[in-house]
Amino acid sequence: MVLSNGTYGLRIVQTLEYLNRAHTVIDKGDYLPPRGPEVIAAISADPAITHVVVVHCETSSGILNPIKEISDAVKACGRKLLVDSMSAFGAVPLDFNEIPYVAMVSSANKCIEGVPGFGFIIARKDELEAAKGRSHSLSLDIHAQWAHMNKTGQWRFTPPTHVVVAFLEALRAHKLEGGVEARGARYTNNRDVVVKGMRELGFETLLKDRWMSPIIVTFFCPAHKNFGFNAFYESMKSKGFIIYPGKLTVVDSFRIGCIGQMDEGVMRQVVTAAAETLSEMGVDTAAPPEIALVEQAKLAA
Ligand SMILES: *Cc1c(COP(=O)(O)O)cnc(C)c1O
Repeated sequence: MVLSNGTYGLRIVQTLEYLNRAHTVIDKGDYLPPRGPEVIAAISADPAITHVVVVHCETSSGILNPIKEISDAVKACGRKLLVDSMSAFGAVPLDFNEIPYVAMVSSANKCIEGVPGFGFIIARKDELEAAKGRSHSLSLDIHAQWAHMNKTGQWRFTPPTHVVVAFLEALRAHKLEGGVEARGARYTNNRDVVVKGMRELGFETLLKDRWMSPIIVTFFCPAHKNFGFNAFYESMKSKGFIIYPGKLTVVDSFRIGCIGQMDEGVMRQVVTAAAETLSEMGVDTAAPPEIALVEQAKLAA
């Protein structure tokens, strides 16, 4: 069972469709979080569910999903938990003793700050053993790669050597910075500085503070008639900042990332660039349209 509240949840569903694996979905739409009680209800109604897949930080809205609540629900039902922690691992704690997952997946290029080129999993060894011979794919057969690496010290196929070297450097830098706690604190401060500054300009965030991840933040586009996303994007880019288009289906939005080699000084420059851009556009308030506030109210604090 896939718990979906955004693009990455839907991508898991799409992957399962491509692979022809039986699945069911709790689809919460653009951002509303999956909750423990609905997970328990769905499992109780469908004994065929063996695993629950949850996205840790749903990067398309920036929500930090209530992973402990979901983990407790899955555990209470005696089912197994899989976690997509692509955009959170390395900056948000994911303690196996607290959240007993059977496997999680992340990648070299997000909070670890390596370069793009491979993903990695952390899994229970007994689950890895049990997965032998079950892979749909030769190249993505984790058990085969694990067994081969243990036996020979080699990757089965050509390794992405430069990416691995960069990853080792990135892990070294991660440790030097102070690990998950320090990296999470820097990103959290980045987020707080950009959110405070943007709110002072009149922008509103999709999510209330309690749900915001320290990874990426969704802001509503201003309602002002002179505002256009493309012009805003181009102007921000010309000032040195690439922002992300929003992924909400019912209201225009954009996202600002808080991760990578950036500190609060950079985030203040982002706010300054946004302020200058608004003034160049002749937008005197960044307040969002009514409909945005309706969306915002759907998720309680
Ligand atoms: C980035 C991301 C992915 C996929 O990453 P690709 O780099 O596009 O392969 C999957 N899930 C989440 C939550 C992500 O943030």
